[in-house]
Amino acid sequence: MASADTTSSDTRDDAYEFAAPFRAPQGSPIRELFKYVGRPGMISFAGGYPSKDLFDRDGFAHALDAAYRSDPIACLQYGDTAGTPALRGSLARLMGTRGVACNADDIVVTTGSQQGFDLLLRTLIAPGDTALIEEPAYPAAIQALRLAGANIVPVRTDRDGIDVDALAAQLDAWPAAPKPKLLYTVPTFANPTGATLSHARREALVRLAAARRIVLVEDDPYGELRFSGTPVPPMRALADACPGARDWVVYFGSLSKIVAPGLRIGWAIAPAPIARRMIVAKQTSDLCTSPLAQETARHYLDSGSLGLHLRSIVGAYRSRCEALVKALGHFAPGEIAFTAPEGGMFVWARLTGGRDAGEVLKRAIERNVMFVPGPAFFVREPDASSLRLSFAAPSEAEAFEGARRLASALAQA
Ligand code: PMP
Repeated sequence: MASADTTSSDTRDDAYEFAAPFRAPQGSPIRELFKYVGRPGMISFAGGYPSKDLFDRDGFAHALDAAYRSDPIACLQYGDTAGTPALRGSLARLMGTRGVACNADDIVVTTGSQQGFDLLLRTLIAPGDTALIEEPAYPAAIQALRLAGANIVPVRTDRDGIDVDALAAQLDAWPAAPKPKLLYTVPTFANPTGATLSHARREALVRLAAARRIVLVEDDPYGELRFSGTPVPPMRALADACPGARDWVVYFGSLSKIVAPGLRIGWAIAPAPIARRMIVAKQTSDLCTSPLAQETARHYLDSGSLGLHLRSIVGAYRSRCEALVKALGHFAPGEIAFTAPEGGMFVWARLTGGRDAGEVLKRAIERNVMFVPGPAFFVREPDASSLRLSFAAPSEAEAFEGARRLASALAQA
């Protein structure tokens, strides 16, 4: 019998009638860089990964063991699509510490907060609908909006986050219909800018979103990683003081940056009509978030380990951020402009003299140091001289050495 040609040409992309957003999909530009991260001796300021030396391995092992021992069936069986009642209760208490009054029924557990945003888009965005997004923005949010077929309109930011007056003017000039359906922002220690929206701007943004009936998406994976300055409440908390505003805020939280991304535990707090639809969307996405992960997260949170762990990682990120800031000033004075953040994981910077960050990255990779060039974070007109440096992963000594290599790459570019 003649053998079938299993590598036949009909496996080419154009053999399939892909849905429009997937005809020429752009993968994540940051994930493209990952092939270099594992290179021996590489110092990476590129990823938004928590530091591997800062995980609470013992606390986590204890929570995993306790979860399994106390209720193995709950860990092994399917669970409620909205999340296990116990974890939803623990997350509601965690939200209480952030100033948000809610109860277990208000929480929808998601498989990472990334899934939460995807579920929200499925409930709200049809191809051609308009979505506003802060710019520069988290690339996977831009990517999710693109794949949803949204008409993506960037909103201006400065060093204090979204420029709310400019946004109000933008909306004043908007045609009566169709109006934007949502606005996405990371108001605290943003990815990529590290910027934090001020208290006054938060109040103004909440009022504006409610008045214009635009869903305000508050993505908050970094809020607890504050190492200097004064804490600001989530917009979801401020919305309680503004009549009707709570109906227009969707909050996303995540354990990825404060416990471990491998857990894949995030959550959403959304107005009931939206939450109900997100749960229906989740039924066809993954049925439920891993009950084993949820039970482990619940035991971890209820053991009180998070508070201690946060103190330890926030202290480490403070030192690492300070080390990077100091080393950049020492090795590349006047060549890189940036504002030091008050928390989170990122320093957003601009090369002086209009140099192209993508070109500098090529020289940098030759010297075993990496960062993410800024254009990945823009919707339309990228700023080619901008870049994002994450200080979370490199130790202080590595941050120092990495900045030295970066300065050498700049000298060559
Ligand atoms: N939002 C932002 C701003 C992020 O930076 C990330 C992770 N890089 C996420 C959401 C996704 O987090 P999770 O692991 O909870 O899906």
